[in-house]
Amino acid sequence: MCVFCQIIEGKIPSVKVYEDDAVIAFLDIAQTTKGHTLVVPKKHYDYFLKTPKTIMHRVMDVAQRIGQAQLLSLHAKGVNVLTNNLSPAGQTVFHFHVHVIPRYDEADKLRLEMIENDARHELNLPAIAKQLQQKFK
Ligand code: 5GP
Ligand code: ZN
Repeated sequence: MCVFCQIIEGKIPSVKVYEDDAVIAFLDIAQTTKGHTLVVPKKHYDYFLKTPKTIMHRVMDVAQRIGQAQLLSLHAKGVNVLTNNLSPAGQTVFHFHVHVIPRYDEADKLRLEMIENDARHELNLPAIAKQLQQKFK
C-alpha cells in the first residue's frame, strides 16, 4: 500500500488540514515553506493525468480553498499550486496529490524556474499546437 493510502487509513500519522468523503489535505512533511499542504483523493489514482474528472475537480476545489486560507490566515504573499506527473516531472509518491505551497519571499526554499529554451526559434509552434489539438477532436 502506498504511503498516502497508509496516511488515509490512519496507519501513518499526519497533520490534517481538511477532510471530507473523497478528499483529504495534510501538511507535507518537508514543509518547503510554512504551511506547505498536500491535497489528496482518498481513492488511489497514480497521478493527476490518470484521475477521473469528478475526483480531480473535488481535489482542485479543496486546493483552491487551502490556497485562499494560506493568503488569509498564514499571511502568505503568494501561493504555488502544482502537481507532478511521473518521475521526469519530479513525482516521488505515485498517489495523485496537489501541492499548495505558500510563498513568503523570493529567497525561500522553493525553486521553480522556467528558463527560455535556446532552441525556441527553431520550434514549429503551429505544428506543435496541431499535435496537441488531436486530444480535442
Ligand atoms: P512529489 O515529489 O511526489 O510531488 O511529492 C511527494 C511529497 O510527499 C513530498 O513533498 C514529500 O515531502 C511528501 N511526503 C512523502 N512522504 C510523506 C509522509 O509520510 N508524510 C507527509 N506528510 N508527507 C510526505
Ligand atoms: Zn495510494
